[in-house]
Amino acid sequence: AVQNNPDTTLITPDAPVAATTHGGRAKCLQRLVRLDLPVPRTVALSFDAVHQIAEGQLPDIDAILGEFNPTSLLCVRPSSEDPDWGGPGAVLNIGMNDARYVDLCDTLGPTAAAALYLRFVQTYAVHVARLDPDVFDDVVEEGPQGLSEMLHAYETETDEVFPQEPGEQLGAVLRTMARAWEGTSARLLRQAKGAPADAGLGLVVQEMIPGLGLGESGSGVLQLANSTTGLPQITGRYLSQSQGRDALGAGAPSLYLGCDPRGPSLEEKAPGAFDDLKTHAALMREKLREEMQVEFVIENGSVHILDGVRVQRSSRAAVRIAVRLAQDGIIPEQEAVMRVDPHTLNELLHRQVDPEAERDVLTTGIAASPGAATGKIVFTSAEAQASAARSEPCILIRRETSPEDIRGMHAAVAVLTEKGGITSHAAVIGRGMGLPCIVGASGLRFQTKKKALMAPDGRIFKTGDVLTIDGTSGQVLVGEPAMLEAALDDSFQTLMGWADKERDIGIRANADTPADAQTARNFDAQGIGLCRTEHMFFEPGRLTVMREMIFAETSSGRAAALERLLPMQRDDFTQLFRIMQGKPVCIRLFDPPLHEFLPATRTGQRELAEALDLQVSDVTRRVEAMSEYNPMLGLRGVRLGVTVPEIYDMQARAIFEATLEASKHGAAVVPEVMIPLVSAKREVELVKARIDTVAAAVASEMGTDFDYRLGVMMETPRACLRADEISPNTAFLSFGTNDLTQMTYGLSRDDAGRFMSAYVQQGVFTEDPFHVLDTEGVGELLKLGAERGRAAQPNVTLSICGEHGGNPESIAFCRDAGFDYVSCSPFRVPVARLAAAQLAI
Ligand code: PEP
Ligand code: MG
Repeated sequence: AVQNNPDTTLITPDAPVAATTHGGRAKCLQRLVRLDLPVPRTVALSFDAVHQIAEGQLPDIDAILGEFNPTSLLCVRPSSEDPDWGGPGAVLNIGMNDARYVDLCDTLGPTAAAALYLRFVQTYAVHVARLDPDVFDDVVEEGPQGLSEMLHAYETETDEVFPQEPGEQLGAVLRTMARAWEGTSARLLRQAKGAPADAGLGLVVQEMIPGLGLGESGSGVLQLANSTTGLPQITGRYLSQSQGRDALGAGAPSLYLGCDPRGPSLEEKAPGAFDDLKTHAALMREKLREEMQVEFVIENGSVHILDGVRVQRSSRAAVRIAVRLAQDGIIPEQEAVMRVDPHTLNELLHRQVDPEAERDVLTTGIAASPGAATGKIVFTSAEAQASAARSEPCILIRRETSPEDIRGMHAAVAVLTEKGGITSHAAVIGRGMGLPCIVGASGLRFQTKKKALMAPDGRIFKTGDVLTIDGTSGQVLVGEPAMLEAALDDSFQTLMGWADKERDIGIRANADTPADAQTARNFDAQGIGLCRTEHMFFEPGRLTVMREMIFAETSSGRAAALERLLPMQRDDFTQLFRIMQGKPVCIRLFDPPLHEFLPATRTGQRELAEALDLQVSDVTRRVEAMSEYNPMLGLRGVRLGVTVPEIYDMQARAIFEATLEASKHGAAVVPEVMIPLVSAKREVELVKARIDTVAAAVASEMGTDFDYRLGVMMETPRACLRADEISPNTAFLSFGTNDLTQMTYGLSRDDAGRFMSAYVQQGVFTEDPFHVLDTEGVGELLKLGAERGRAAQPNVTLSICGEHGGNPESIAFCRDAGFDYVSCSPFRVPVARLAAAQLAI
């Protein structure tokens, strides 16, 4: 008997069967047996046994056959460790031969008997005897006539009669399935799905319940939750007189009542069996602690369970299913938190293209900001604003975006650029605004002057044509596919609440505008970790004043322009503080090089000359004089603060006046002021001295004292190396991993997109380091900076505010390095909250 041999064992409640030795299906069947469900008798073959079969050594076939009733047919199904790794197709009706055919004609009728035999001969011929499927092309008839034609064709092709011995048939089927698993293409396929090189295959030999024959017989699948919505709903398919996966074909009717014109449902045909199935499914859900799809066969009205597999699910369904399982007391809350992949939350937080919708994909670029939107295409920011004024959704198409496009981005529902990478301007702004965005779509020809977009297949799209941007997948789609709305429902909120109970690292948001701050609050961010103040200057009215300041020849001229910027900034900050209701707000002083604010085109320069009452040549000269070979490494960040200190003075004053203003009516505000691009201790000393002076002046003018925290943005390698001498002057160190990655690799964040995919494909980088933190190199600097900073100043707050802040892998790294919080774009806050909770569980 097979029971005593772990390599070929009858599945009983306590047989030695494990997913790691016999595969997931064998293990699941054992669980079903333990639940006393009507599971056909099954023998499980271990990975070792199957490996030996592939090497030519068959197990004791007679012992296996001896476990079954001699009149039963058998089937063999694959049982890989993880069902996602696939496996050879099941072979049904093993044991069919001429003698059984005659017997079954009596018991099930000639049609059913012929169909059983036909299916087996066909599968055996193609998969075991490896005949070309088209040798049966002429066998059109079903039933007994078709069967004898098929057997004849088999004989002609192989010069042998169809094997009649069940033992010979079973042995050959096992050998074929074992060898199929070891084949190169099967191995590559499963390795692509994450299977290890030596992944094993188990096989199960199971008594065949025919699904054909007398009374109500057939096969199908049933589940208790909807795979797309996750809501409780009985769904599935059932086909009378069918076997295997027949019921999953397009023609099969639903199994529950009143919803299918294709035929009566199982509920109508066999209500008793339908009820049994529902009861079995509910028991499986409770005891297997998972929403399961039940594979079943009905034999003359009675139910048999063949398998249970985890219900396929969309991201939104995953959340609802996990939460409901916990609410029903089936799994603990912590486990529900663990069961949702944080990466997939993005799909819930944004509208998305319905996974069922047809897609006409024009090209795929870099998925820079998730969500999907449909609109008419426009090629300039002015057109985008005009569209918005007409309430017409539009997609802004640019070669790349610059600060001048911010207005257009605000007016558009999505952005598409030819150039750029994951941290380029459009991508960062898009994520901040929750605007779907694809960058680096170099597969398309952007003819922005002609206002046309040319696809590789020759199709041309012009202003007003409708496209859809799927920023989650990076696909540019033609027309308007069906969409699913964002799903911030009760289940989502509940799951987030459970996650927050577990989490032990703070989560803040990067937010530049009141709208961003509101989003951050809605997602329960614990504060703002980075407010990039320069974004506040890009608005139309302010840009002119900003330019006036840049063009001022004298310090009194500059002071006058700054005087006009002050109240604007003060209002911005007051709003931010109010929205955040006393939660910490970290405001970064001005960072970019000034010439970014000047127009690059002749027309723009002419308009500016007119506005400032200057000669065009003056404007052009000034623009040229300020231009830098490498502005990213030029006069920006604290270097600007040191050389043109009035700008930081104005900003500090605006922050402090706003602090007092917001604290008047609401929670007390303790602002955080952050100095960007620091690389030397002296820079911090110089800026700190001036800011302290401004604080003292504001306190004395207003007659009220207040606290503030001054910190440094760690985004140059030198700042990390010299953290020990920088941190004593600061309350916090916040690592800006965008610039730090750029400077550590010497890799331009705006240009890397052009060759990044080549680098990743050739394995130079495992992933885009602007996307996934390079823990080995950049991470080393982070650790070093954190250690040295903390050693010199144990109370210093440590955080990360680069784009990596929302990435689950980077959060793990920062948590291990002892950081206090991570800060990421507002829409990634929920992802970060969930990822951080999973690390703590
Ligand atoms: C950074 O460099 O990581 C950062 C957050 O600042 P920015 O992206 O504005 O340069
Ligand atoms: Mg930076």
